[in-house]
Amino acid sequence: MSKWSFPTGDLMKGKRGVVMGVANDSSIAWGIAQQLAAQGAEIAFTYQGENLERRVRPLVESIGMDTMISADVTDDASMDAAFGQIKEKWGKIDFLVHSIAFAGKEELMGSMVANTSREGFRRAMDISVYSFIDCARRASEIMPDGGAIICMTYLGAERTVPSYNVMGVAKAALEASTRYAARDLGTKGIRVNAISAGAMRTLSLAGIRGGKGLMSTGRDWSLLKEDTSMEGVAGCALYLLSPIGRSITGEVVHVDAGFHIVGVPEISDGGTA
Ligand code: NAD
Repeated sequence: MSKWSFPTGDLMKGKRGVVMGVANDSSIAWGIAQQLAAQGAEIAFTYQGENLERRVRPLVESIGMDTMISADVTDDASMDAAFGQIKEKWGKIDFLVHSIAFAGKEELMGSMVANTSREGFRRAMDISVYSFIDCARRASEIMPDGGAIICMTYLGAERTVPSYNVMGVAKAALEASTRYAARDLGTKGIRVNAISAGAMRTLSLAGIRGGKGLMSTGRDWSLLKEDTSMEGVAGCALYLLSPIGRSITGEVVHVDAGFHIVGVPEISDGGTA
């Protein structure tokens, strides 16, 4: 039973693609996958190692899919094998969802200047940024008829956010990578975009010191005075990956109830009254 409800239809009928980054039933990748499936997409899921398989398999089966492939984005052999299996199964794909990031707990607290080690920086950039470039290359090689690729980012790429630290640096690089990939792949008919989602309750958020505060501030300062919804994020993914997102590429679309445009929240002398 899904925690969310997604509109059904045919927008993705006949389209096949890869969703990377489902860890559990709160993962953003899982919300996006359900929305794409509800619109007729056929999906191959990659997951990070055997430990996650037990948690992810029932989810995948609950939407009538069965293609699950282990893929560690830091391991070239694992990535070769994963994309090899996808090519063998389908020959070509139409879309790819990259919903993967990681930084160590020690990096996601306190001072960015004090707490970012060389190894921590390298790991965050490798898993959260290089993996996207690598996936875009691998996916584009099996998109002979064009396609669409998305990744997930956050406001911490553009503005400073407490504890987000090296992940903000990585997201800035991810957004730049989105634009360069869009440039490189445009002539192949492949669109590349990023969704900048507001803070959402997932495993990744739990790894950030004060993650709950990012959610409550995101809600309280937002224009809509609400949490970012999985339905909104997944709907945006559907829009960017389906034919209705035609002509849109190299874009970072904010889905955060308007939080990103607020410079100063409501003021007590009635500035917005
Ligand atoms: P999540 O923890 O459910 O997903 C993160 C995924 O990254 C997991 O599936 C994990 O297995 C995968 N991953 C980490 N290292 C990997 C590796 N070496 N190889 C393969 N996979 C690996 O959390 P989420 O919040 O759904 O995160 C998904 C994306 O959304 C991330 O890019 C995150 O930065 C982004 N995002 C999250 C929020 C939020 O508030 N939760 C907001 C904006 C953007």
